[in-house]
Amino acid sequence: MKEISKTESLQKTLRAVRRQGRSIGFVPTMGALHEGHASLIRRARRDNDCVVASIFVNPLQFGPHEDFNKYPRPFRQDKDLLRSLKTDYLFSPDAGAFYPEGFVSTVSAGPLGTIFCGKFRPGHFDGVATVVTKLLLAVMPDRVYFGAKDYQQTVVIERLLRDLNFAVKFVRMPTVRDADGLAMSSRNRYLSSEERARAVVLSQTLFWFRDQISSGVTDLKSLRRQALHRLKKTFDQVDYFDAVHPESLRVLHQAQPVMTLLAACRLGKTRLIDNVTITRFQKNT
Ligand code: AMP
Repeated sequence: MKEISKTESLQKTLRAVRRQGRSIGFVPTMGALHEGHASLIRRARRDNDCVVASIFVNPLQFGPHEDFNKYPRPFRQDKDLLRSLKTDYLFSPDAGAFYPEGFVSTVSAGPLGTIFCGKFRPGHFDGVATVVTKLLLAVMPDRVYFGAKDYQQTVVIERLLRDLNFAVKFVRMPTVRDADGLAMSSRNRYLSSEERARAVVLSQTLFWFRDQISSGVTDLKSLRRQALHRLKKTFDQVDYFDAVHPESLRVLHQAQPVMTLLAACRLGKTRLIDNVTITRFQKNT
């Protein structure tokens, strides 16, 4: 695995790869890698001749009181994992060089960036849209891989790629979970053992809701009320829990054949997000 920190040198290297007619798969990350990230790299490895991963803790997507400074940065372990997965290139730019003095041009995620997580993290999705744009222009991959774990992020990015004519195929990969159901996240390492035990209620509640729908329950309002009740008993704060249209993220009040449940809760200072998409809704006729 070749490590590259300068954008110009990455661009030069990948120009040569493209000239050889080799396809490029790209997996952007913020590091503190786990099996969720690994699943993206493995898929990119299968689909492409050349795999590029990036590790960059993007300051633009953190709010002033968020965890930018304490975000885990186990760089050496991350590199070992990427190497074991046969990543060809690791791009890990320095924040000062990536956003040099005088940097002012940004990309807006639009209205999709101001709902759900965007309401609680103002500017977050604009920061994501900007870094993804810069990274894609640096890598110019054939395919880019994102995890469904950050569902709203995938919707924002799919929209961005369409709106701005990026010639890249977007691949959304399923959420990888711990054995008890908790969605893997770099931020899970903030949880105390007592918090970790409570955290599982988030996925349990999503799965319970999904099972209710699959067994024919159609009263979303009542299901949501019961789910919120359970979450509020467990978590210190529930930011949101809603059934939405999987593409527009419009809140649904009536059960649909395909729905996505989106949820965000807090345990102490740790914010957890999770979601499930229900695809096999059977109408109770
Ligand atoms: P992050 O390093 O948290 O910015 O995540 C980098 C990429 O990995 C994003 O596309 C995430 O959605 C994806 N990812 C993070 N956690 C998981 C998970 N548990 N399962 C699948 N993908 C994930």
